Amino acid sequence: MDFIKGFDRNQLIMMDFEANVAQDSWARVVDWFVDTLPMNELGFNDILQAEGRPPYKASDLLKLLMYGYKNQLRSSRKLEAACKINIEVIWLMKGLQPSARKIAYFRKDNPKAFKQSFRYFVLMLKEMNLISGETIAIDSFKIRAQNSLKNNFNQKKIDRHLEYIDGKIAEYENRLDQDDDLEVNQKEELEDKIKWQQEKKQQYKSIEKELEESGEAQISKTDPDAKSVILHRNVVNVGYNVQAGCDGKHKLFINNDTGTVNDTHALAHMALDAKQLLGVDEINCLTDKGYTTGLHIDTCTKNGITTYSSPKAHSSQDNGLYNMNEFVYDAEDDTYTCPANQVLHTNGHICKKRKHRVKRYYTKACNECLLREKCTKNKKGRFIERSIYQEALEENERRVNQNPEYYRLRQQITEHQFGTLKRQWGFTFTLLKGKENVLTEVNLMMMCYNLRRIMSILGVDLLKSWLNILYITFSRLLKPLVSILTDFLNKIKNCNSRKLVFLMQLQTS
Ligand code: SF4
Repeated sequence: MDFIKGFDRNQLIMMDFEANVAQDSWARVVDWFVDTLPMNELGFNDILQAEGRPPYKASDLLKLLMYGYKNQLRSSRKLEAACKINIEVIWLMKGLQPSARKIAYFRKDNPKAFKQSFRYFVLMLKEMNLISGETIAIDSFKIRAQNSLKNNFNQKKIDRHLEYIDGKIAEYENRLDQDDDLEVNQKEELEDKIKWQQEKKQQYKSIEKELEESGEAQISKTDPDAKSVILHRNVVNVGYNVQAGCDGKHKLFINNDTGTVNDTHALAHMALDAKQLLGVDEINCLTDKGYTTGLHIDTCTKNGITTYSSPKAHSSQDNGLYNMNEFVYDAEDDTYTCPANQVLHTNGHICKKRKHRVKRYYTKACNECLLREKCTKNKKGRFIERSIYQEALEENERRVNQNPEYYRLRQQITEHQFGTLKRQWGFTFTLLKGKENVLTEVNLMMMCYNLRRIMSILGVDLLKSWLNILYITFSRLLKPLVSILTDFLNKIKNCNSRKLVFLMQLQTS
């Protein structure tokens, strides 16, 4: 009896890489998928120069990145190492070993091409009927940026630092003035400390100036696009708030973006982008209450997007006074009737209140009203502010209340993908700096997620057949056809086919 033993290291072994990669491995799926993509049309510069060292094919580098992003190998150095030690990667790259620098620059230099690839993939899924474009849900998740909290400043933080520095300078100066027994070296030490604090003060002053000139509420020194965000349960860090749109049919990602720290101003932009990309005339959009903003709901409604966005409670609800539900609005007369049965009128003037545009409603009856104590603490009487988008907001609220089951689909459609990206694939932080580059990582992640998801839905064999058909269709039929049609369309400049217009845009981008 002996332990199980490995092979003899001195034994020469004939090895076939093909046999060492499972038929349903992620490497094979990525290989099939990337081969179907029209790399040049998507914006990857896959052109050979007459002179110099031959470049790597963009498709090979894209395969490497897609393999890595699904398997928690995102850093270019880890990918470089994987090309030498990971048997699946060696198979996928056919033994190519690009340097970390090459991989990093390929990822950094092609943000638009990665975006186009993801959007092209979404269109492929739509053509294949895996994305229906009937119901979408939009939600966001946060990731940490390459910028520490120490290098993020707002005015309050700068003031706090300046106050501390002034205190320290005053303390050192007092000691110099009052302590006559100080040795020469002690005096020099204090003077050095004052000088150092003054230099620090200058640095904070220049950051303050930069912040003022930017017009923003905060500034990040390492990655200027990153913002201080609440990651979860009051844990604040510097990062990105990534918006993601998902289709209701198979919960596949359809679009993404990043910008502001919260969701308040993201709805219309995301929903309109999804509708345009999918080429549908009407679409239903589910969002949580963070997205409920009058302007955005109104914009969506006017553009064929039916919103189901969780309504926000009115700000006057918890102050112990009559809340807004006690006031009845008459749309015909544009008046409110209060609990004392008095009519509140407006002069029609639209005021700007912070970022909202509202009309104000008053009544003179407040002066002698017996219910006044329950209604208002304002000396001039109660007034109501009605957003100019109130009708759109109320219509949205009615839809949500009348279709609670439908609204509940929101959580099923969006949130579990974020768990997969963050917990299973480790996408809790970005490796790159700047909005465009961060979106490159997001696009790569979402492409991997969609591909992995359709691998589960269709099975590997069916997926392979489908990708084969696409490859043959594009490389042998569609590509020459698109090229001919693009020339033709350029001449007549009127085409109704969204797909062809999209492909034409890809070709010209
Ligand atoms: S205070 Fe004015 S608005 Fe309030 S109940 Fe009385 S009359 Fe109506």
